[in-house]
Amino acid sequence: MTARIIDGKAIAATIRGEIKTEVDKMQNEYGTVPGLATVLVGARPDSATYVRMKKKACAEVGIKSFANELPADVQQADVIDLIRGLNENPEVDGILVQLPLPGHIDEEAVLSEVELSKDVDGFHPINIGRLSMKRRDPLFSPCTPKGCIELLDRSGIEIEGKRAVVLGRSNIVGLPVAMLLLHRNATLTICHSRTKDLPGVVREADILIAAVGRTEMVKGDWIKPGATIIDVGINSKDDPTRKRGYRLVGDVDYGEAAEVAGAITPVPGGVGPMTIAMLLRNTTDSKRRRIGME
Ligand code: NDP
Repeated sequence: MTARIIDGKAIAATIRGEIKTEVDKMQNEYGTVPGLATVLVGARPDSATYVRMKKKACAEVGIKSFANELPADVQQADVIDLIRGLNENPEVDGILVQLPLPGHIDEEAVLSEVELSKDVDGFHPINIGRLSMKRRDPLFSPCTPKGCIELLDRSGIEIEGKRAVVLGRSNIVGLPVAMLLLHRNATLTICHSRTKDLPGVVREADILIAAVGRTEMVKGDWIKPGATIIDVGINSKDDPTRKRGYRLVGDVDYGEAAEVAGAITPVPGGVGPMTIAMLLRNTTDSKRRRIGME
């Protein structure tokens, strides 16, 4: 079997096009556009790159962005003051605190300050709490997990009643994606570093979401024939044939898995582009609610 490729790049481009149309309509009919405030603490190059990519994606669909950069040694109280100001700013519909924060800052204390209606990253403890409860809907779901579900939906892969296995239980990916699958009536198993017989558990999956951050850990013979694989992992692998000496690969051995699976996301070009598309989606939804646009 050769798996169908789930093209996240193309799906994300379609979603960005849909959002641009909505933003143009907001501008024309309501005289306003969504606004996203980013909060970057310190100078981690990867975080700075992510924030830059998010601002660029906002500009492309007509969302306004408000950049806030604070030094790595900033006091927690000052970060909280900044967030309180953004909560009050009517031009700001979404507040994104780029994680990780420096060690001296209590991440949960900061995220809790983001007003619920502007929590477009979906990490406010109340949004996460609602996500984890039956028949409660969070105002926003975290972007990467939401992007995984959107990939399944837009590829016509049914979730209800399927055996879903999530590899990883992080607050950012594993846990929320598991909760989203449960909301959609999958039968769920969550695996982590203490799981026994990982290949045996993975082999039960009709839908596998891999988010462990381990280079090509999931092998072809771990996969149930015909399964759908969503590979969230982004890992660098030495590759002397590349100018930069490495290439990006996922948590799944793509070459092997594609021979067994029914559908699979590539890395790069799978989940990655969806994360930013979902951030634009959440920010636009926030503005829609605020202005009462259907
Ligand atoms: P974390 O390191 O926070 O979590 C990794 C999880 O995997 C943990 O739950 C850990 O278990 C589990 N794990 C680690 N090693 C093993 C193992 N050998 N066997 C079984 N389980 C294991 O990572 P994140 O969730 O933040 O990210 C996961 C991957 O997704 C990374 O490659 C990251 O770069 C990528 N990512 C991609 C995004 C995108 O937009 N495409 C966005 C965010 C992340 P335990 O809890 O027991 O420690």
